[in-house]
Amino acid sequence: MSKAWNFGAGPSMLPPEVMEQAQREFLDFHGLGIGIVEMSHRSAEYTAVAREAEFLLREILDIPEDYAVLFEQGGGRGQFAAVPLNLLPEGGHADYFVTGHWSRCAYKECAERYGKAILHECAPQGTDGLYHVDYSKMQVTPGSAYAYVCLNETVNGIEMFELPDTGDVPLIADMSSNILSRPIDVRKFGAIIFGAQKHVAPAGLTVTIVRRDLLGHARQYCPSVLDWSVLSQYDSMYNTPNTFSWYMAGLDFKWIKSLGGLEAMEERNKAKAELLYGFMDQHPFYHLPIATECRSRMNCVFTLKDESLNPEFLKQAAAEHLIGLKGHKVLGGMRASIYNAMPIEGVQVLVSFLDRFASAHS
Ligand SMILES: *Cc1c(COP(=O)(O)O)cnc(C)c1O
Repeated sequence: MSKAWNFGAGPSMLPPEVMEQAQREFLDFHGLGIGIVEMSHRSAEYTAVAREAEFLLREILDIPEDYAVLFEQGGGRGQFAAVPLNLLPEGGHADYFVTGHWSRCAYKECAERYGKAILHECAPQGTDGLYHVDYSKMQVTPGSAYAYVCLNETVNGIEMFELPDTGDVPLIADMSSNILSRPIDVRKFGAIIFGAQKHVAPAGLTVTIVRRDLLGHARQYCPSVLDWSVLSQYDSMYNTPNTFSWYMAGLDFKWIKSLGGLEAMEERNKAKAELLYGFMDQHPFYHLPIATECRSRMNCVFTLKDESLNPEFLKQAAAEHLIGLKGHKVLGGMRASIYNAMPIEGVQVLVSFLDRFASAHS
C-alpha cells in the first residue's frame, strides 16, 4: 500500500493514531469478543464509550455545565432545519450573516421552509478583487430569535476570526470544518453545530452544543429526532445513534488532548497555513481569492493563473499521491484542506509539488 496525502475537504483525513486504534479494536473491543459496531448502544460498555467522548469534548472545548452536548444524525444540513425548528417561533424572524456557500444554504433552508430569515451579505468582493468578511454588516434586527453564522466556509475558504456583537440575541454557529482547530469561548454562543465528517470522525455524526435555556421551544411539528430537548432528555439515545462514528470521535478527542489540546492544535494549524499561503503569496503562478485576514486555516482555496492547466495539475498531483485537491463543484479551482490530522510534512510535500509544477509550466 502506498500512503497518499489526503487534502480532501470531507470526509477527510483522520489522525493515523486514531485509525490504527480503531483497526486494532475493530474485531474484538476490549476483550469482549465482539466489535464496537456489533454491540448494543444501550450496553454498559458502549454507554461508557459514549459518555467518555462527551466528557473529553467538554474538557477540550471547555464547555460549561449549562450547555447540553448532543450526538445526532442528519449532518450539517439536518441542523440547517433543526436550528429554525428549535429556535424560531411561528411568526418570528432570524438574521443570517452569509459569508459563503454553507451559510447561504442554511439561510435558504430557513427562508424557504420555516419562516422569516433576513439575509445579510457579509463577505463582499472588495475593490482589490478579494473577498473580505465585513463584520460591520453583521447587525441584528430588533426582535430577532437568533443570529446565524458559519465560522469556516469550507467551500469558499473564508474563516471568521472575530464574532459579531449580537447583544442578547443568541449567536448560532456552524463550525463543521473548524471545530477543535483552535480555542473558542463557547459562552459566546447560543448553539454550535458541527458535522463530524469534516475532520473529527467518519460521516454520520452531527454534534450540537446548546445553551440549556434555549431548549424546550421546538415547533410542535419538529421531528423528534431533530428536537434538541428530546435528544437532551434521552442523552442522545432517543433513537440508535451512529455508534461507530461517536466512538471514533471519542478517539479523536483523546488524540487532541494527548497533543496538548486546542492551544497546541492552533499552533500546529497556524504553522501549516502560513507555510502554504506564504508560498503562494510569493508565487505569481498561483492566485488566492480571499483577503489575508479571513483566509481559512483549514481550507486553502486557490486557482492556477492559467486554468487550462487544471486537469494536468490534478493528474500530476495524483501521480505523486497528493489527492483531494480539486475545488468544490460550485466554485471550481483548487482547494487544499489541511485539517487537524494533516501534519506539517504533508504541507511541505504539497508546497514542493506546487513549486515544481509552477517551474515546469512557467
Ligand atoms: C460540509 C458542510 C456542511 C454540510 O454538511 P452535511 O453533513 O453534508 O449536511 C455544512 N456546513 C459546513 C461548514 C460544511 O463544511
